[in-house]
Amino acid sequence: MNDRTILKDRPALTFTGSPLDRGDLIRRDPDMLVAASHHQDARCILLRAGEPAMSADNTLHRFEMSDTANWDATGPLVYLGETAGQPLFACENKIETPAPHGTEFFDARQAARLMIHADAAIFAQARSLFAWRERHQFCANCGSPTRQAGGGAKRVCDACDAEHFPRVDPVVIMLAVDGDNCLLGRQENWPDGVWSALAGFVEPAETLEEACARELLEEAGVTADIAGIRYVMCQPWPLPHSLMVGLVAPVTDTTLTIDTHELEQARWFSRAEVITMLDGTHAEAVMPPSIAIARRLTELWVDGAI
Ligand SMILES: [Zn+2]
Repeated sequence: MNDRTILKDRPALTFTGSPLDRGDLIRRDPDMLVAASHHQDARCILLRAGEPAMSADNTLHRFEMSDTANWDATGPLVYLGETAGQPLFACENKIETPAPHGTEFFDARQAARLMIHADAAIFAQARSLFAWRERHQFCANCGSPTRQAGGGAKRVCDACDAEHFPRVDPVVIMLAVDGDNCLLGRQENWPDGVWSALAGFVEPAETLEEACARELLEEAGVTADIAGIRYVMCQPWPLPHSLMVGLVAPVTDTTLTIDTHELEQARWFSRAEVITMLDGTHAEAVMPPSIAIARRLTELWVDGAI
């Protein structure tokens, strides 16, 4: 198939578009949080080691609040927000806890592909919060234990009064382009044949454009036209708590010098070749699945939209 119309109808990126009102006022008021948890329509989703409990119909299962009483949780419930007046909480159970009757735990990536769009965003919020909570049980300022506050939106140290807020780690992910060619790379531990846009964490005192240019130079040896780098879109990535910032980056020097500590391979792909990778007709190379912003960037580039 070589029908580029398939690229024109683009759904919103996975993990975006949460329907929840995150309820800042409620999170600030312990009494309102308790009232929300006792609301007759309150429900709770469940994760275990980052994997969501899903119903047989591939929805994120909404448990009754009373179901949570006997669970073996890693910590207090987290308040995610509300939609249509229905408060929604999240619980994370310990790793050895079996899935409650009628549900099954799914690997995070698999779950994200199966879920309806709104559920994926809710799952992402819960997964990132739990991942952060797990790693911030102790105060980074004084080393004392921290406790949950704000319904899970922060942690507080009673020893030194420090407040700790959930991390979001910005990552630039960029499609380097040179006319009708784009640069893709692959890492050694990826499945065979998968190629993707290059990416890297933004470092302190760096703009997105500077991070993009630095990563391209470090990983592939190519020089970007920093004034020509453009923001395209971004995507929360809850593995564990990144924000993938998608950019397109024209380059002034296409010569590749690959950092083999970071990449197994990188090379320039023609537009025609990328079209077959997206269509699934390329003999050996494929793009990441549709949940990945890297795929969307290449779709937009192929379509002339960026
Ligand atoms: Zn402290």
